[in-house]
Amino acid sequence: MNRRTFIKATGLPVGASALGFGTRLSAASQATPRAPVVVVGGGAFGAWTALHLREMGHRVTLLDAYGPGNSRATSGDETRQIRCGYGDRELYSRSALRAITAWRARQEEFGVPLMMQTGRLQLAPDWTAGMRATQATLARLGVATESLSHDELRKRYPQMNPEGVGVGLLEPGASVLRAKQAILAVATALTRKGGTVAVARAKPGRAQGRRLQDLELAGGERVAAEQFVFACGPWLPRLFPALLGNRIQVPGRDVLYFGTPAGDTRFSFPNFPNYSEDRCYGFASIDERGFKVCTTTGAPTFDPDTDERIVTPHEVRRARAYLALRFPALKDQPVIESRVCQLENTADEHFIIDRHPDFDNVLIAGGGSGHGFKHGPVLGEYIAKRALGEATDPAFDQMVRLARG
Ligand SMILES: Cc1cc2nc3c(=O)[nH]c(=O)nc-3n(C[C@H](O)[C@H](O)[C@H](O)COP(=O)(O)OP(=O)(O)OC[C@H]3O[C@@H](n4cnc5c(N)ncnc54)[C@H](O)[C@@H]3O)c2cc1C
Repeated sequence: MNRRTFIKATGLPVGASALGFGTRLSAASQATPRAPVVVVGGGAFGAWTALHLREMGHRVTLLDAYGPGNSRATSGDETRQIRCGYGDRELYSRSALRAITAWRARQEEFGVPLMMQTGRLQLAPDWTAGMRATQATLARLGVATESLSHDELRKRYPQMNPEGVGVGLLEPGASVLRAKQAILAVATALTRKGGTVAVARAKPGRAQGRRLQDLELAGGERVAAEQFVFACGPWLPRLFPALLGNRIQVPGRDVLYFGTPAGDTRFSFPNFPNYSEDRCYGFASIDERGFKVCTTTGAPTFDPDTDERIVTPHEVRRARAYLALRFPALKDQPVIESRVCQLENTADEHFIIDRHPDFDNVLIAGGGSGHGFKHGPVLGEYIAKRALGEATDPAFDQMVRLARG
């Protein structure tokens, strides 16, 4: 059995090149000279869109400059959270709720464990308007939450020092997703179902009136299609600088994994939930990677192509100071893994999913704003429908439109 047959047989997602996504597009485009839809960008937004388009019966080519699930992509980190708590932004809560069901079904379909139910604990000195809104929205949607007082927190989580925390809001149904593995699994499913995945950097090519005719690849080749979706995450502002340069900001974020003490499982899944408060958030150790701590500070701007992915000493210091207060048993533990990631933030933290104002056959999808990954399976269907001009929820359309101040 060769490696390819082995992967097919096991369904195991592995690196993009091992899966054969390393095909240069010149070869792929000869196979599909006029693919009706080309999706540029194989992250959470683009990969799920391409899969849904294929499942809707369309010929689809997914292009990614570095391959789906690559470590420069915002979706290329190891883990991402899924929770329904969104304050009063009920449309996102509803989407997350649908996404939980979809993730569950997809991990069955892909044969890859992608979701671990961890719960999520939001901590604050006192009830905030956002926490109350989350509680009310989730009660309306039938999603369980639990509120915990300072004393209850101390009793339930003896590994945490609740000093300065007056209240905790627990969403027991929240989970952690294996992010990179998920994107690789989606791309694998796409190829298995007859879509094309290729490694190529693309930009808009020739236009005729209000229609884009083709894409121009970094090597000079051209790829024609009927519809184009640009789902390029933090690269969107540089692809469309006039349109998105001021609408999407790209700051850097350091993600640190602290070792847990030998023989101590108190800080590992399933013994502690995802946690978040103003200064920091993170997860218990999953896959023995270490206790995840993300500070909410970082480089104000980040170049996703060329910047080094090396964490800064001051973010390590900040994370360690946080541990010293909240999880004292971890304060002297070493950083055993780290990541540097970037956000693609809009000012109001709503996604941007809309037609390009100059082209009737170009859809832009991005602006994940630190919360887009979880919605992937639901967003993919939504973006596919938008690209094809099919009916979608008008309220969601309005929320994610381009022209919103
Ligand atoms: C530290 C951190 C923590 C987060 N935590 C969570 C969380 O817990 N839960 C959650 O739901 N979300 C979270 N998010 C947000 C989430 O990760 C993003 O919203 C989501 O991954 C964005 O996906 P995307 O497809 O838009 O972009 P990306 O994943 O960046 O994908 C874009 C792809 O486009 C490709 N590309 C770019 N330009 C071109 C081009 N010209 N030609 C071809 N290909 C191109 C890139 O190679 C890349 O693969 C977090 C983000 C960060 C940074």
